[in-house]
Amino acid sequence: MVVKVDHIGIAVSNLEETLKVYTDLLGLELHGTETVEEQKVKTAFLPVGDSEIELLESTAPDGPIAKFIEARGQGIQHIAFKVDDIEAALAELKAKGVRLIDEKPRYGAGGAKIAFLHPKATNGVLIELCQKG
Ligand code: ZN
Repeated sequence: MVVKVDHIGIAVSNLEETLKVYTDLLGLELHGTETVEEQKVKTAFLPVGDSEIELLESTAPDGPIAKFIEARGQGIQHIAFKVDDIEAALAELKAKGVRLIDEKPRYGAGGAKIAFLHPKATNGVLIELCQKG
């Protein structure tokens, strides 16, 4: 089902400031930023080999990233696995009784189709499935 680790999502309070850690200190290149209004988040993608780092800054105090930081502080928020067919993957997980946050894919940054599994179904890790192109 899963092809590779597509990206690691990191919740940050200040996107501009945090970007410096990944560009200036680690030498990664910023691939682009995008605001996804639906999820109240501004994202920045930095490719690392075949995967990416996704930095996430909340655009509203009641957004999911703001709530995450309030509860747990800044840090790794989710791991995204690439799948070839997200609808099929969700149907398979549903059939296995896995609790899903998204039963249907929604729009993600870069035009990807994404869906989240419930962290209670995965022993604490928020897993995103992601299909691109
Ligand atoms: Zn993500």
